[in-house]
Amino acid sequence: MRPPREPSGMRPPLVPLATLIGEELRKNGKDPGEPLITYGHSGLAKRGEDYFLIKRDCQRSLDGSSPAFSVFAVFDGHNGVSAAVFTKEHLLDHVLSAIPQGLSREEWLQALPQALVAGFVKTDIEFQRKGEASGTTVTLVVVDGWTVTVASVGDSRCILESQGGVVSLLTVDHRLEENVEERERVTASGGEVGRLNLCGGQEVGPLRCWPGGLCLSRSIGDTDVGEFIVPIPHVKQVKLSSSGGRLIIASDGIWDAVSSEMAAKSCRGLPAELAAKLVVKEALRTTGLKDDTTCLVVDITPSDHSVLPTTPKKNQNNLRSLIFWKKSQGSVNKLPDKLSSVGAVEELFEEGSAMLAERLKNDSLSKMDSGPLRCAICQADQDQAEDSPIKSGVYLSPSSKQWDGPFLCSVCRKKKDAMEGRRPRKSLVMI
Ligand SMILES: [Zn+2]
Repeated sequence: MRPPREPSGMRPPLVPLATLIGEELRKNGKDPGEPLITYGHSGLAKRGEDYFLIKRDCQRSLDGSSPAFSVFAVFDGHNGVSAAVFTKEHLLDHVLSAIPQGLSREEWLQALPQALVAGFVKTDIEFQRKGEASGTTVTLVVVDGWTVTVASVGDSRCILESQGGVVSLLTVDHRLEENVEERERVTASGGEVGRLNLCGGQEVGPLRCWPGGLCLSRSIGDTDVGEFIVPIPHVKQVKLSSSGGRLIIASDGIWDAVSSEMAAKSCRGLPAELAAKLVVKEALRTTGLKDDTTCLVVDITPSDHSVLPTTPKKNQNNLRSLIFWKKSQGSVNKLPDKLSSVGAVEELFEEGSAMLAERLKNDSLSKMDSGPLRCAICQADQDQAEDSPIKSGVYLSPSSKQWDGPFLCSVCRKKKDAMEGRRPRKSLVMI
């Protein structure tokens, strides 16, 4: 394995300002510190194609000096289990290897959304090389302190319940039936969208894309479906207030039966392990076991409960807890005290575009690298690329549109063009 890339130059031996401020806040008793994370899982199999991943105490740096983070994921496979199993085994490694070593916690969190895009696409390329037909949804959640980052393709959802019972959706459903934007993208990239046609011309079931007949517009795998079914995830990153929150991550076996609000309500106030069981029970009560059903519940709570009131103070305006506070670009990275005390959730990042040009724009991290050019998706070095490397900004795609993103190796460039409908899928399989 190649050594992880290092930022050029040595860091000066100064204590970062954020650390000093953090220490000062802790002294004053205002820093909530690291949250306590508890979780539960429950599930019932109908076809046995759902998988999940729980990984606690993941280390950001080799020396383990930074606080650990946790990963929770749900994979809902279709047409077999191989894509779900492969993704469960490899996706997280591919995401983490796309983040440079030596970053501060803050920098690492900023690099995470792009690394998630790279990791999802790399996993898809590697799985498709196996030539197997199955596919999978992915909802991958990284919990790092009070910051929650969710990346998803397909229709497994993650919801957040923050203080005051405010429920918000952290994912987008990539279903052709419900997502007009995705229908337009698939059609523009050369796919056809329509319902299953029975003999006699009767149309049945949800909207699907053809060839392939998949109801989803994004997934990992699905080699037999057009490349316009892309593995590029919707990514959302939020920072919880010091009152914390509850995440419910589940496959469509849950969400086809209950709404986000119903799921949150069915287990409110109960410990995570029991909560997961109750959400599954509620879904079964509503529709019976129609599909694989997987549910993870993750509670992110203050480690010292005594510092927080369990009910809002009387003089606080409850409406404020409904605010999903969005940080404007360039603003100081600090919540106003009034908001942070009532459970507002700060939105740090959200991007769902299926165009790599829009997802890999920020090249600030690779510029820190003084070594050879490294592919922004698969992390292969320039000299390891399969053909002569072409520098960023020089490569002309088949449509002669200039690519002004970071360096991509020949394999990843071809994947990018195929996803945008600029090249027939068959030629990718030949690689
Ligand atoms: Zn590559």
